[in-house]
Amino acid sequence: MSSEFSLVFASRNPNKLLEISSALPPNFFLKSLSDAGIIEELPETSGTISGNAAQKALYVWQAIGANALADDSGLEVVALGDRPGVDSAFFAGVPRNDARNMMYLLDQMEGILDRRASFVTVIALVLGGELRLFEGRIHGRIAERPLGSNGFGYDPVFIPEGYQDTFGQLPAAVKQSISHRARAVSVLREYLDSLGADH
Ligand code: IMP
Repeated sequence: MSSEFSLVFASRNPNKLLEISSALPPNFFLKSLSDAGIIEELPETSGTISGNAAQKALYVWQAIGANALADDSGLEVVALGDRPGVDSAFFAGVPRNDARNMMYLLDQMEGILDRRASFVTVIALVLGGELRLFEGRIHGRIAERPLGSNGFGYDPVFIPEGYQDTFGQLPAAVKQSISHRARAVSVLREYLDSLGADH
């Protein structure tokens, strides 16, 4: 697939668009939802992380017939039965508030010794109406208290496996090289590169 190829990125987050664009093969271009003329909110009602990613990418395909990419992420805590998962952004309720979510999580984990957790990202790709999912995961554990102020969301309470510091303390470059998002993007990239091999 050596000719230019454009995909609509089904997210309103410009940082994600930049992060994912920079990891795609050079002949792939990401268009924003507004460039594609989609102004409505995208549905995210499937109840799972992978389902929501698929729902957003398929929505774009069904609405305007364009190839599309979408992502969805969350934190899965083993002792909480993989919660908050798909509800990570609103764990402590609406409106979304990262600090409240983190404190609510620590409350739920009070007295729990099994601190295992993982961050997961699923990227959904719809090409010619066909859906494919790419998952990236990083294992780690939940700290006893928030440490550091780098990143966002649950970063100050997540210690990745093989490290002593939280994502809130680790330099952004370290997080970017091992994160769930980076891993999902890298399996997507492998797939897109393999398409190139067929053409
Ligand atoms: P999204 O689907 O990427 O918007 O992620 C949903 C929610 O999961 C975010 O609002 C955060 O609470 C949490 N989350 C996802 N990725 C990360 C991360 O890299 N660090 C911390 N929290 C994250």
